[in-house]
Amino acid sequence: MFTQRRHQYCTGREILFPVVGQLADMSDTFVVVGGDAAGMSAASKAKRADPELDVVVFEKGEWVSYAACGMPYYVKGDVEDIDDLVAVEPETFREERDIDLRTGHEVVDIDPDERVVTVVGEERFEQPYDDLLVATGATAVVPPFDGMDLDGVFTLHDMDEAAAIESYLDDEAPETAAVVGGGYVGVEIAEALADRGLTVHLYEMLPSLLQPFGETVGETVADHLRDQGVRLHLETAVSGFAGGDTVERVHFEDEDAPADIAVVGVGVAPNVDLVADAGVELGPTGAIATDEYGRTNLDGVFAAGDAAEARHAVTGEPTHVPLALTANRAGRAIGQTVADEPTEVGPTAGTAIVKAFDLGAARTGLIDEERAREAGFDPVSVTISAPARAHYYPDATELTVTLLADVETGRLLGGSLVGREGVKRIDTVAMALHAEQTVSELQNADLAYAPPFSPVWDPVLTAAKVLSGKLD
Ligand code: FAD
Repeated sequence: MFTQRRHQYCTGREILFPVVGQLADMSDTFVVVGGDAAGMSAASKAKRADPELDVVVFEKGEWVSYAACGMPYYVKGDVEDIDDLVAVEPETFREERDIDLRTGHEVVDIDPDERVVTVVGEERFEQPYDDLLVATGATAVVPPFDGMDLDGVFTLHDMDEAAAIESYLDDEAPETAAVVGGGYVGVEIAEALADRGLTVHLYEMLPSLLQPFGETVGETVADHLRDQGVRLHLETAVSGFAGGDTVERVHFEDEDAPADIAVVGVGVAPNVDLVADAGVELGPTGAIATDEYGRTNLDGVFAAGDAAEARHAVTGEPTHVPLALTANRAGRAIGQTVADEPTEVGPTAGTAIVKAFDLGAARTGLIDEERAREAGFDPVSVTISAPARAHYYPDATELTVTLLADVETGRLLGGSLVGREGVKRIDTVAMALHAEQTVSELQNADLAYAPPFSPVWDPVLTAAKVLSGKLD
C-alpha cells in the first residue's frame, strides 16, 4: 500500500494521494471488480509491474476481456464466431499471467473501513483488499417503454445480448427491424441488420443522427443511410412495442408500424450502485468522481472506464466518456500506480469514430458551440470539403472537415470529419487538442503527402487555414 499524504484539490475536496518513492508496505492484494477493458488492463499491468502482488479479479458474467465494440460486426456477420471478440482467454490470465480471475462472481458490497468486499459466487464470502479498482462499466439504458420485455426486443451492451440477437435472427428470420436511437450503436446495428437483408426503420427523437458528432456529420450520415435504404424517422419519439409473445409493432407519436425485431440503443448509464452505497462520491455527470490517478474519495479505492469520470482535455472539467481507449488507458495507469509507479490516467478528448455503411464519421473535443460557450470559450467554426486524395488520383472522394476554435486565444477546441475515406485523420486533430495547439500551429504541421493518400494540403490543414483566416 502506498504511503499517503493529504492533498487539497481546487474543488476543495481532500483526497489521499500517493507519494512517489515512499512506499511503506507494498500492496499485498489488488482486487478488481469487473473483468473487461478497464479491469483486465489494470490487473495485467499491475501483475506485470509487480509480480509479488496478489491480483484478484471478480467478474459477475462469464465473458472477460471481450470487445463489445465488435458486437455489431458479429451481428452483421463480418465476425463469424463470437469467441473471436475475446482478446485474451480466461486461462491465459490465470495460467500465464498468474491473475486470480473468478468469473461468475459478483461483488455486492464494499466496506472501505475494513477494506473488504463481499462477493457472491457459488458461496458468499469476504475478500480483503489493499487496493481496489471499481471497473464495473456501464449498462444500456432501458427506457420505460411498453413491451420492452417482449421476445425480439433487445438492447446491445454485452456479449450475451449480441448472441441473443444473432440467435433470434437465425431462428425467427425477422423481416422488419425497428432500431431505436441514432447514436453510434443505433447506426452500427442499422447497417448490420440492413446487410442481413432486413428492412430497417431507425427512430431518433432528435432532429439529427450522431448528435455528439455535430450537425454536419449527422446530416451527411442521415442522407447516406437513406441512400442505403434505411427508413429514417427523425424527431420521432418511440413509446413502446406491442405483440403476442414476440414483438410485432413499434409505437411512436400517434402511429405504429411493423417490427419483427427491435434493438434499443438510447445510451448508457454508469454502474455506480455498488460504490454509491459504500460512500464513494459521484461527480456531476453521475459517474464516479476520480482524480488524475483514478482515485476516488475513499482511501485505496480507484475507479476507471465506463463507470468513472475522466478529465476533459479541452475544458479540464470532469466528463463521462464511455469509450474503449479511455477504459483501457485508465486501467493500465491504475495498475501501474497500484504496483509501484504512480501514473496519471490522462485526459480524454472524447475522440470517437464510427462506420455507417460506406461512410466514416469521427469527432474530437468540443464541437457544439453552445457547449464551448458554457466552458468559457468564444467559439468560431468552419466546415470545408476537400478531396481525401489528390483530385486527379482514381477514386478520390470528398472529405468534410469541421474545426472549432476560440476567437480570443486562437486555441483549437475540437473537430469532426465525415467522408468515404480518411476519417482517421481525426487523430491529427486530437493530437493538436492534447498539445493545446492554436489553429495556426495546426495549420503549420508537417503532414504527409502523396497523391494516393492526400492532396498536398491535407483537408485538415485546409480547414485550419480557412479557420485561421476567420480568426485574423
Ligand atoms: P465494461 O466493458 O462494461 O466491463 C465492465 C464489466 O464489469 C462487465 O463485464 C460486467 O459484467 C462487470 N461487472 C459489473 N458490475 C460487477 C460487479 N458488481 N461484480 C463483478 N463484475 C461486475 N468504444 C469505442 O471506443 N469504440 C467503439 O467502436 C465502441 N463500440 C461499441 C459498440 C457497442 C455495441 C458497445 C456496447 C460499446 C462500444 N464501445 C466502443 C464502448 C466500449 O465497449 C466500452 O467503453 C468499454 O467496454 C468499457 O470498458 P469497461 O471495462 O469500463 O466496462
